Amino acid sequence: MKNNPHTNASKQLEDVAEILRAEYEDGARFDRAIELLKKPQNLIEGEVEVKMDNGEIKKFKAFRSQHSNAVGPYKGGIRFHRDVTREEVIALSTWMTWKCSVTNLPYGGGKGGVIVDPKKLSEAELQNLSRAYARFIANDIGPWIDVPAPDVNTTPQIMAWMVDEYQKVKTQDFASLATFTGKPLELGGSEGRNEATGLGGVYLLEKLAKKLDWKRKKDITIAIQGFGNVGYFFAYHADKLGYRVVAVSDSKSGVYVESGIDPEKTLECKKKTKGIEGCLCSEGKCNADFGKPISNQELLELDVDVLVPAALENVINNTNANNIKAKVIIEMANGPVTPEADEILNKKNILVIPDILANAGGVTTSYLEWVQNLQGYYWTKEEVLNKLQPMMENAFEKMWKLKEDKSLNTRMAVYFSAVKRVVDTMMVRGWI
Ligand code: NAD
Repeated sequence: MKNNPHTNASKQLEDVAEILRAEYEDGARFDRAIELLKKPQNLIEGEVEVKMDNGEIKKFKAFRSQHSNAVGPYKGGIRFHRDVTREEVIALSTWMTWKCSVTNLPYGGGKGGVIVDPKKLSEAELQNLSRAYARFIANDIGPWIDVPAPDVNTTPQIMAWMVDEYQKVKTQDFASLATFTGKPLELGGSEGRNEATGLGGVYLLEKLAKKLDWKRKKDITIAIQGFGNVGYFFAYHADKLGYRVVAVSDSKSGVYVESGIDPEKTLECKKKTKGIEGCLCSEGKCNADFGKPISNQELLELDVDVLVPAALENVINNTNANNIKAKVIIEMANGPVTPEADEILNKKNILVIPDILANAGGVTTSYLEWVQNLQGYYWTKEEVLNKLQPMMENAFEKMWKLKEDKSLNTRMAVYFSAVKRVVDTMMVRGWI
């Protein structure tokens, strides 16, 4: 059964508020801040009109939820999906407020969505839809107001069409490139953005290795669900550092290679064979004897040190949480563990690095793209990643300290610091 994401987001906020309340002398004032944070500050809702290839004008329902701009401009992706709902967009914008807060970005949270199946659109229709959506939100966004980015089914190309359309509408916005992030390199995108989310997770893996006193990286086994952008770069960088990635999967199936898979070779094979099933690759070669195909469910339940869900939400739920054997879960996907499963994992003493920290490398590099656009001065990939690394590591240290000092679980520790920063800012602004 699919969980309602808005219910999950509200439950998480209520749970952390219960603990955080003790930090504030005026509890009633704190409660008012939490009440405000349960709703977006602004919700833009309407229809966009798109010219189809046959000349027809078709209408699509569109949203932009601006959850909080206490800390800075709203920031968050735009999703094109047939299952988009108002509640989902609101919940995702709420999570963006916390995610931007975790790595100390000067941003609040936002999210946009259009109810559409983009696979049914031609390239020209997709461009028309992207431009129509940009016009729909043009008066409510801007480098210092709200900065959208890609999300499910939206790409750097789509950001390029949107920024181009925005510039046509807002001719007086002289920093307009900084209105969207996740753009192609040719149009103000940032070096390093492509691999930033996966690599950001690996920076945290390295921090964990020190905290948990893992002696030999080769002995640390990792299973990764999802071999797309995030899963691949997590596998690639973990492998380069000497960890043993023993299993990966895509939407159809997975592979298990006890001696450790070769991520580059596996990707090459996956592209050639259009699937991962036959790709049993290790140390530069692929051979059916190296391991065995496994299902996605088997991958999640492997006896490994680190499990990395990097595909979909709610994959660890009350049907399988009891069977999870990993010691650590790094949530690279958004919302891969349901609240019910989270309770079970807690009881089993499984350490979870929560999504809003684990995959924050993406939005943090988007922030670095925005900074480059605003200053008109561009950094090399090395410079970008050298700025990303301490931001991720500092956020990890903050979480770890709270976990130790206040005996919180890791998810609670991350939410504690994220929500506190936003509430404190609302208070000094005099909003409550
Ligand atoms: P992607 O589309 O590049 O890859 C997704 C992968 O998941 C693919 O390998 C696909 O085959 C696999 N997959 C799909 N359905 C599956 C299933 N039922 N079981 C197992 N695997 C399945 O997407 P991505 O950009 O890598 O994003 C992955 C997750 O990370 C998403 O939850 C996304 O919201 C989150 N995320 C991504 C970024 C980013 O920068 N790309 C940033 C933050 C969070």
